[in-house]
Amino acid sequence: MNHNLYLQFLPHFERQPSKVLIDTPEGKRYRYADVLATTQRLAGALQELDVQPGDRVAVQVDKSPEAIMLYLACLQVGAAYLPLNTAYTGSEIEYFLGDAEPQLYVCAPERVGDAMRFCQAGSVVHVESLSAAGDGSLMDRAAKAEPVTEVAQLGEHDLAAILYTSGTTGRSKGAMLSHGNLASNSRALAEAWRFSTDDHLLHALPIFHTHGLFVACNIVLTVGASMTFMPGLDVEQLLDLMPRATVLMGVPTFYSRLLKSPRLDRETVANMRLFVSGSAPLLAETHEGFHERTGHAILERYGMTETNMNTSNPYDGERRPGTVGFPLPGTELRITDLESGAELPRGETGLVELRGPNVFQGYWRMPEKTRAEFRDDGFFITGDLGRVDADGYLHIVGRDKDLVISGGYNVYPKEVEQLIDELPGVAESAVFGVAHPDLGEGVTAVVVAKEGQTPPDEASVQAALADRLARYKQPKRVFIIEALPRNVMGKVQKNQLRDTYADLYT
Ligand code: ATP
Ligand code: MG
Repeated sequence: MNHNLYLQFLPHFERQPSKVLIDTPEGKRYRYADVLATTQRLAGALQELDVQPGDRVAVQVDKSPEAIMLYLACLQVGAAYLPLNTAYTGSEIEYFLGDAEPQLYVCAPERVGDAMRFCQAGSVVHVESLSAAGDGSLMDRAAKAEPVTEVAQLGEHDLAAILYTSGTTGRSKGAMLSHGNLASNSRALAEAWRFSTDDHLLHALPIFHTHGLFVACNIVLTVGASMTFMPGLDVEQLLDLMPRATVLMGVPTFYSRLLKSPRLDRETVANMRLFVSGSAPLLAETHEGFHERTGHAILERYGMTETNMNTSNPYDGERRPGTVGFPLPGTELRITDLESGAELPRGETGLVELRGPNVFQGYWRMPEKTRAEFRDDGFFITGDLGRVDADGYLHIVGRDKDLVISGGYNVYPKEVEQLIDELPGVAESAVFGVAHPDLGEGVTAVVVAKEGQTPPDEASVQAALADRLARYKQPKRVFIIEALPRNVMGKVQKNQLRDTYADLYT
């Protein structure tokens, strides 16, 4: 049997050639037949460039439908697609390319000159360009290439992609994802979220992360649906497009920004059937505000680069705010003790561990790191801390690296953040540990005010928490700041907060 993920998509190309698969707000339309023809030519171009099964194709380009066709062509020929954040420059790119050693590096036309030095240094064999508008030397080459129809024969563990993690807790790691990982996860999600050929997805996420690339595109391609590709989040544009769409996938900022628009109401979302949120915790307040305004309960799910998606709130049944729902079918989840690694009873907080067909093949060229993150019985230690409630919903309470140990006691940041967020005038907060001479770490909080409101000052936050939290959990210091430091996926960068306040207690 051929486990190539491409074969999971191919039947739709053959069955509905004239249906539009991708369109753009500027009115570009790509039918299934167009996408197939270009993909086959791109596969031809890859073969001309001597890209062999298992070779890496590093892609650092602006979002475009052509980039998705390049991804499909890589799957078809059996190369590992390796997308890179467009924001990376200089030494960052040098690290990624030196680490990945791709046969081909595809970049924006203006970067080609600089990229040639990677060829000279021996880390890259070929460089080609692809612009946001979908042209460049790679597309020129594809236009002249012989289309390839053959699909590489692959096993389920063969690599489909190497995706670098977001780098929220340190240097990004390359997660090796197999054809089996991606194929099984997109099938599980398509089923869990009731996707069909009739769905139309609003795609405003970047395509160099698992959320925008695999969750969004792979589901659409698995069921033969369609999508509108937007360069990024533009609230007005999203609202304009909603009447003819059925699904939106976003990070929490999408929803808090949408809520700020007076145009968001029941009528605008009348055609929508599903709003999905992930990549970072969705505030319960956003969930509730969105429900009130639109009648839709946002469906929050939990995943990571290494594992694809792990858990999801139910399509039917209660979507519980502040939780990430139940394990997807086929995925096993357990909570274990931070020190002993022993499985904990339901209700207790510990490490989230996962096993299943969605779990990656290891970190690229980091065998020791890979070994350290897997248990002998195959469970992957996610680095997230969580608790399963009495009804089976998983609550993520933070990352083990963000756990604060103060005076020998564990403080889970989320527990403190939730209480601060409930105070009048508070939009959101972040709690983290800072080196403290007596306590080891001192619990520290930063607070962001609700727009146009006065936030409580340090003393009143501390007073409000005094009889609601054990003393060791109470923040020693509280700062009011403008905004939490976030990366493109909306993740709060606690590293940065710890650095900023590093000398606070010394
Ligand atoms: P790095 O591993 O490089 O430090 P990262 O973990 O942020 O970065 P990703 O793989 O993009 O890189 O993100 C996965 C993480 O995002 C999860 O481990 C989890 O901490 C967080 N996450 C994803 N979805 C949710 C969610 N719904 N609620 C809370 N956290 C979430
Ligand atoms: Mg991570």
